[in-house]
Amino acid sequence: MSDDSTNIAAESSADLRDRAAELDAADGLAKLRERFTLPDGVVYLDGNSLGALPAGVAGTTADVVARQWGELLIRSWDESGWWTAPERIGDKLAPLVGAAPGQVVVGDSTSVNLFKALVGAARLATPGRTKLLVDAATFPTDGYIAQSAARMTGLTVVPVDPSHAAEAMDADTAVVLLNHVDYRSGRLHDLPALTTAAHAAGAITVWDLCHSAGALPVDLDAHAVDLAVGCTYKYLNGGPGAPAYLYIAARHQADFDSPLPGWNGHADPFAMTPAFQAAEGATRGRVGTPDILSMLALESALDAWDGVSVEDVRAKSLALTDFFLACVAAYVPQGRVESVTPVEHGRRGSQISLRTENAREVMGELISRGVIGDFRAPDVLRFGFTPLYVGFADAERAARTLGHIFG
Ligand SMILES: *Cc1c(COP(=O)(O)O)cnc(C)c1O
Repeated sequence: MSDDSTNIAAESSADLRDRAAELDAADGLAKLRERFTLPDGVVYLDGNSLGALPAGVAGTTADVVARQWGELLIRSWDESGWWTAPERIGDKLAPLVGAAPGQVVVGDSTSVNLFKALVGAARLATPGRTKLLVDAATFPTDGYIAQSAARMTGLTVVPVDPSHAAEAMDADTAVVLLNHVDYRSGRLHDLPALTTAAHAAGAITVWDLCHSAGALPVDLDAHAVDLAVGCTYKYLNGGPGAPAYLYIAARHQADFDSPLPGWNGHADPFAMTPAFQAAEGATRGRVGTPDILSMLALESALDAWDGVSVEDVRAKSLALTDFFLACVAAYVPQGRVESVTPVEHGRRGSQISLRTENAREVMGELISRGVIGDFRAPDVLRFGFTPLYVGFADAERAARTLGHIFG
């Protein structure tokens, strides 16, 4: 490298740091970082895998253990609101996915909720239809569960590229399972248009919101989505293994026939009757006794969203990812990384995925220098931007550190 280019790089580094400071100073969401406990000196860009710890969770969890469980014992099912937590927390989460109350129930894992949603969707679908369309690049669990659900309901899985999914929908399509944001590339799929296309073909939609809820507006009700699932430990910061959620649109609730009709989803669970009779509403999506410790940690975690608009979060997310891409272009020698995340805002989630050689080793090196992202096989560096606690200086430092590794 010539002296000249070294100078240019040094200059643009100072410029980018100044720019980051300006953007942080003007950021109306910057103070939300105080709602989280993050270690000093770490740039955390893995909130799309495990969200950071919201400040109130430790205290809530201690109270749930020591007082609600330790002192109130079994009375807490009633007195501490344990029994109704799945619906209550579902309603707390609902505005973040654009759902009116009564349609979201929290519990179980995303994998389990996918199973309920897919079999439930197949049972709602027009009889005689044969196909279950599934995002070909999907997170593996969705594909595995879809295969099993299809076998159980007599459907055939048809893998589709979401950008061409609409063309694959026809009079044989029973159910369409798509991811709102692709976990590997960060590609955002067109939920409104694909839902409309599925409905035009007479199919039932199941959307997986794992990588969109908490990062961008979802608007399930406005777009007439039928069923949706998502996890709460990514952008919703519910904690490791926090319970997932299931959305059942109000218009489908009376006919939603869960393949896991546990006693918690019964209309009168304590009648202990031999015959199953599904509860009204989203409650019929429940299965067994909820995981109260994780669930109440999630309830507390959702306080981080008090007074926060998802539209503002989206605007900051796009600004952060734009700025990160600009910093990567400035710091990383040409040709060493290639972004697989669309540049177009309308097609981008809240992460940037960079393809590079030796991605696993590069990520290991970044982490050892205090920049935490993750690696996805075979060659992708993932950087998730959680606008509630990531700032522009973080984005600049992450790109600069990446540049040093290649430098
Ligand atoms: C994270 C994620 C999951 C996780 O499923 P679990 O059952 O919680 O392990 C499922 N699907 C997608 C698309 C994901 O991104």
